[in-house]
Amino acid sequence: MVSEKMKALGVKKSVIREIFEYAKVRKAEIGAENVFDYSIGNPSVPSPDIVKETLTTLLTEKDPAWLHGYTSAQGDAGVRKAIANYLNETYGAGVSENLIYLTVGAAAALTISLNAVLADGANEEVIVFAPFFPEYKVFIEKAGGKLVTVPCKEPDFQIDFDAFAKALSPKTKAVIINSPNNPTGVVLSEETIRKLSEILAEAEKTYGHPIYLIADEPYRELVYGDIEVPYLTKFYNDTIVCYSFSKSLSLPGERIGYVLVSPKAEDANSVYAAILGAGRALGFVCAPSLFQYLIPSCLGKTSDISVYETNRNLLYQNLTNYGYTCASPDGAFYLFVKALEEDAYAFCERAKQYELLLVPSDDFGFPGYVRIAYCVTTEQIKRSLPAFEALATSYKQH
Ligand code: PLP
Repeated sequence: MVSEKMKALGVKKSVIREIFEYAKVRKAEIGAENVFDYSIGNPSVPSPDIVKETLTTLLTEKDPAWLHGYTSAQGDAGVRKAIANYLNETYGAGVSENLIYLTVGAAAALTISLNAVLADGANEEVIVFAPFFPEYKVFIEKAGGKLVTVPCKEPDFQIDFDAFAKALSPKTKAVIINSPNNPTGVVLSEETIRKLSEILAEAEKTYGHPIYLIADEPYRELVYGDIEVPYLTKFYNDTIVCYSFSKSLSLPGERIGYVLVSPKAEDANSVYAAILGAGRALGFVCAPSLFQYLIPSCLGKTSDISVYETNRNLLYQNLTNYGYTCASPDGAFYLFVKALEEDAYAFCERAKQYELLLVPSDDFGFPGYVRIAYCVTTEQIKRSLPAFEALATSYKQH
């Protein structure tokens, strides 16, 4: 006998992975250049040079026993200090290295945070705004919580505050936000964050316990134009930031990120102790040491994100010209496009006839749309435009 829950998770691949696998097969059949694979959020631009330079220096100049050895569970003290300094200088975030915990990417930051804040056996609720990163459901349920979804407003995919206020309950323990957003690319404005914070602070008073605002931030730096992503600790006390270097430095396979507990959180030291405990119970030991030591020289640096901006502009302008509608894509590297028929799966099947591999939005908790991950070459975008146009035309003819 094995765990049926775990088996089910292992057997049923995510829809993104299924399409990603299909893409591999199709590319082998007809040539990679003829398949327009928009399935997965794997950064397409190389890491900035500083990554290679720092890794080379570390590997050639440092004692291997130190470099590859265990660090303390919460991460190297010097690295945590560098992160805190950077956040305080850049955002005036008012954070402390003693409340930073280095993790195996944002995914681990999220699972650790959820396991830390959800009380044992209490079936507490975690509110997420749909559409949302599908793994939230897996992470919340594994931590013993209950997922409560609040659909965003169409067509701008901002928070529906009336629906949010109704979703709050005495059981609400946490709210996850993800801005810039996967899958919509939408960025939450400062005004939105202020309003969200006010409602949450009021709910904390009403229910008499902290409600943690968990900010999932793998896309923080990926914004285009003069858009700003507000730093949460400045607006709401019970904030936990789950950050990742996967996308900003194009290092998703290296698995490095952190959890940060706001010093203003009620009983911040207990929350941090629970973070340490959750990391321990989940068997993380410590984040990859080589990549911890890389961080100080890379803070504030990114891969060349102008490529994503070019891709976004090309896709957004052309797709809207062809008659598609989509959320305003200010950040990340996703477009969330309304399917041209009600069933997004059927739409994706039809798109495959044009070799366009798109992800139906059902697993993101918001049916009727598709996600386009435009972290691909600009060349692919250009070559795929006639396919998008032909797909739209095919709906006009029937
Ligand atoms: N959260 C969101 C919204 C994501 O899109 C991803 C990855 O795509 C993650 C978390 C996980 O990121 P990481 O690679 O840092 O674990």
